[in-house]
Amino acid sequence: MYRSSCSCQEVQIKVSGCCEQALDLETLSCNDDQSLTLTTHRRNISIDCAAHALGEIQLHPNQTQVFCNLCSTQLFTQNAGGEVELTVKYYGHDVLSEHHGQFNLP
Ligand SMILES: [Zn+2]
Repeated sequence: MYRSSCSCQEVQIKVSGCCEQALDLETLSCNDDQSLTLTTHRRNISIDCAAHALGEIQLHPNQTQVFCNLCSTQLFTQNAGGEVELTVKYYGHDVLSEHHGQFNLP
């Protein structure tokens, strides 16, 4: 499971779909902070936030930057075909492991 959020935590993004199978596991292990860049389709991400918190700006005719209106964090870019590129954190396959403190970094 992958998640992303902005600095103020108002915008929460979850990535679903088939990206996990497509991902190179070596990429995961090379990132100590568990963050990585994913390319997926807009339909595979769900955004949880108040409608006014989400801002969009047109970078190019076929590319849109989506950001948080409250803290200005850049969330992801989207092209005209609906492909998005975003930086996410990997939370593993077992969501429950988050609640076991011994695995958390200080
Ligand atoms: Zn924010």
